[in-house]
Amino acid sequence: MIDEFEAKGKRKKLVEELRRKGISDEEVLRAINTVPRHFFMDPAFLNHAYVDKAFPITSGQTISQPYTVAVQTSLLQVKRRDKILEVGTGSGYQAAILAEMGAKVYSIERYRELYLKAQTTLSSLGYAADFFYGDGYEGKPQYGPYDGIIITAAADKIPDTLLEQLKIGGRLVVPLGSSRSQVMTLAVRTGEDSYDYSSHGQFVFVPLLRGTVNE
Ligand code: SAH
Repeated sequence: MIDEFEAKGKRKKLVEELRRKGISDEEVLRAINTVPRHFFMDPAFLNHAYVDKAFPITSGQTISQPYTVAVQTSLLQVKRRDKILEVGTGSGYQAAILAEMGAKVYSIERYRELYLKAQTTLSSLGYAADFFYGDGYEGKPQYGPYDGIIITAAADKIPDTLLEQLKIGGRLVVPLGSSRSQVMTLAVRTGEDSYDYSSHGQFVFVPLLRGTVNE
């Protein structure tokens, strides 16, 4: 594990880099400055924990690039005690950022191993979040409706089941497009049957897939 003091310095530099890249939400930057990303990294990439890049984790998946986490989280406009649903727990880093911002986090992952690991990582850091092993296409209607839904895998369209689980006024953030490249899309529920859509730049994510994987 890298030294805490050194990690703190690296986090500060990372935050400065994100500011230069256009991130301005102070609460998001504070959370990135606080959450130790090296706890979420594969041991082989520990020294790269504060490089602004995505890295491989277990099960052929990735921990998102900090810039991407910052963009998605900024678009959600998280307030303390907001209920946020995450589809694609992965390493749990994004869930920890949301928890650090005071959100009540529900996060779904289709790989059992990642689901188990993220739970351990967050509780070792003292963050409370509810994790589920399952298919995020279904959402978690029993805990909704949500102030925000964040999908951290690439979809070709927004699943209706997830749109339906948003509060009126709630925000859903998802990378939409092909497997090669996606456009970060924000859907705001403006009424029972109406949504406003906007686009927020080009990104590359691993795909949103159906079903679960018991490994
Ligand atoms: N938010 C993560 C990034 C994860 S990468 C982090 O902070 O590290 C995307 C994750 O979405 C992968 O772990 C992948 O297994 C998961 N995923 C893909 N399709 C899914 C689905 N239908 N339901 C739940 N998780 C899914």
